[in-house]
Amino acid sequence: MKKDHKVFDLIDQELQRQLHGAELIASENFASEQVLAATGSVMTNKYAEGYPGRRYYGGCQIVDQTEQLAIDRAKELFGAEWANVQPHSGAQANAAVFLACLRAGDTFMGLDLSHGGHLSHGAPVNLSGILYRPVAYMVSEDTGTIDYEQMEKIAMKEKPRLMVAGASAYPRDWDYARMREIADKAGALLLADIAHPAGLIAAKLLNAPLPHCHIITTTTHKTLRGPRGGMILMGKDFENPWGLTTPKGKVRMMSAVLDSAVFPGTQGGPLEHVIAAKAVAFGEALSPTFREYGKQVMKNAQAMAGAFTSKGYHVTSGGTDNHLMLIDLRSKFPDITGKKVENTLVLADITINKNMVPFDSRSPFQTSGIRIGTPAVTTRGLKEEHVVQIVDLIDEVISDIDNEHVIARVRAKVNALMKEFPLFAW
Ligand SMILES: *Cc1c(COP(=O)(O)O)cnc(C)c1O
Repeated sequence: MKKDHKVFDLIDQELQRQLHGAELIASENFASEQVLAATGSVMTNKYAEGYPGRRYYGGCQIVDQTEQLAIDRAKELFGAEWANVQPHSGAQANAAVFLACLRAGDTFMGLDLSHGGHLSHGAPVNLSGILYRPVAYMVSEDTGTIDYEQMEKIAMKEKPRLMVAGASAYPRDWDYARMREIADKAGALLLADIAHPAGLIAAKLLNAPLPHCHIITTTTHKTLRGPRGGMILMGKDFENPWGLTTPKGKVRMMSAVLDSAVFPGTQGGPLEHVIAAKAVAFGEALSPTFREYGKQVMKNAQAMAGAFTSKGYHVTSGGTDNHLMLIDLRSKFPDITGKKVENTLVLADITINKNMVPFDSRSPFQTSGIRIGTPAVTTRGLKEEHVVQIVDLIDEVISDIDNEHVIARVRAKVNALMKEFPLFAW
């Protein structure tokens, strides 16, 4: 076969972009060469609908072993009794849990999207908001942290069947124990969506969602640094409180309901190449060096938050407990939007994303904030002194936002810094 230059030239351009730029998107990371190799492997050729040992296709004897390995390592990593590693993404994992736990029209609670929640937690354009009835809890305007008292009041009034802990843009840790108390009082199941902090939780650097949460969903590609994908976990299996039916009739245990909700409920054949890569990533995350990585991610985030604060930016909630921070631009630059900053920084090879801040006065398309995360640059080896330099460069660009000379000068400095931290051995 002739090489497809069109596609592979583009892949090479993307590699160059990743090599030369400062990657500060909080949900991104750089997977290892072994994770990439597994993702690009012949496992992609195999159909394996079903689960290890009970498939709808022959020839699954090898993929059964990689999938079982992924399950076993996931359970060890999070101290869980049960895992399903088939969800194609975080949103797919959530869709399966909703299908398993709710019926159309049922009420559930999640963090307000403009306060850091995720689209799959009740956005009107997502199935969670179309098929079910989302009710939001919020952060407090004074502190920028979750208002658990208000959450309890709303829960007691609305009586949701499911409550979701977790966010895409929340810089603080979660009080899962407190949320479980509220969920128990309201008669709700508690789901923790740890898509963002999963790697830091696996490294035991943040509060553990187990044993407090009934179910956990996560992505595998954010702080966990695996291939793009999702996963569902349970600390302990439990009896499905609502006796939901599956294609096999009434199923009592939640593990069976969840398995059925993933396949055939919301997906067809699993991505066995990605599942093999998940097994590799979980193996990496079980190693002591991963814990050191997680610690450095957090040290870098704290150093950046401190540097932004000392330059007069408002960091929401006053700092960060995890790998990300939200900068409310309004205190220092009331006329500059998050969108403008995102688009300008890209020209300087610095990648961040515009983000709503709590109680934002602008739309999600403009925003008054930016979200910044340290997982990717930390994988490359950057330490506190380097990320603080990047804060200086970001501030230089924003302070003179239409100045092309500043952008060009900053880009040269970013490229030089990144050259010191090669991504791969090759
Ligand atoms: C990223 C994220 C997801 C979605 O993950 P995808 O793999 O993009 O579908 C779900 N929930 C939260 C909280 C997230 O941050």
